[in-house]
Amino acid sequence: MKIINHRLCTDDGTPYPFVESPNHGAKLTAEFLVMHFTAASSAKSAIDWLKNPAAQASAHLVIGRDGNITQLVPFDTVAWHAGKSFWDGRQGLNGFSLGIELDNAGKLTRQGTKWVTWFGKQIPDEEVMEATHKNETTPAGWHTYTEEQIQASLEVSLLLVRTYQLKDFIGHDDVAPGRKTDPGPAFPMANFRGRLMGRAEEQPVVHEVTATLNVRSGPGTSNPTLPGSPLPPGTKVEILSKQGEWRRVDVLHPVNGQMDIQGWVHQRYLKRIG
Ligand SMILES: [Zn+2]
Repeated sequence: MKIINHRLCTDDGTPYPFVESPNHGAKLTAEFLVMHFTAASSAKSAIDWLKNPAAQASAHLVIGRDGNITQLVPFDTVAWHAGKSFWDGRQGLNGFSLGIELDNAGKLTRQGTKWVTWFGKQIPDEEVMEATHKNETTPAGWHTYTEEQIQASLEVSLLLVRTYQLKDFIGHDDVAPGRKTDPGPAFPMANFRGRLMGRAEEQPVVHEVTATLNVRSGPGTSNPTLPGSPLPPGTKVEILSKQGEWRRVDVLHPVNGQMDIQGWVHQRYLKRIG
């Protein structure tokens, strides 16, 4: 992908779908990229809302669970995604940032044996991560992001950071703590930041598994093991995020015939090798 005249295009110059939102301000010189979840039922419903004048809200991009990207506001124009916010000496981040919305139902509540969204839809257990938000003290369910979404987000974020020489990659929950929880604990923020901003101290570090080790869908032995589990000793993994004694890892090679394993393991059985 590439950017032509502040519009996202494929390598051959074809623009990505553009759905113009009337909810925008004047010219923008972005310094930051702010990540969000939509807390909506689908990418389409989020886009329909963000182009509705009544919403008084928008974002530069919406990324669906299938990885499809839709642009709503050109990158040189202020979109209304951050609201009351503060970062790095700046107030009101809309005037200083690009905003990406990921199709994701957000924070979930337990109703009986089911995980349910704020709008009453049940989310299957395999799409739920139980975790305590960094700005909160009690655990909740969080809708997980799809691999397609993470890949598309990383690619477009890298392009935006380089094109506009952005100074930082942050979450809405970083710039409006207490008021906002997106993109939340299911988003690999530290990993993205390390890759996008190239900070040595946040670069991913490779670990080796020291015992036969189960990979689970969440941090804790009550979470089910994932296909490809258990990892044999010597398996190489990259840590994506942390919670207590648990680490969410990306397995760096196929194991037991399973490619692209990402899940939670206990840190006791990880040894840093690089
Ligand atoms: Zn947000």
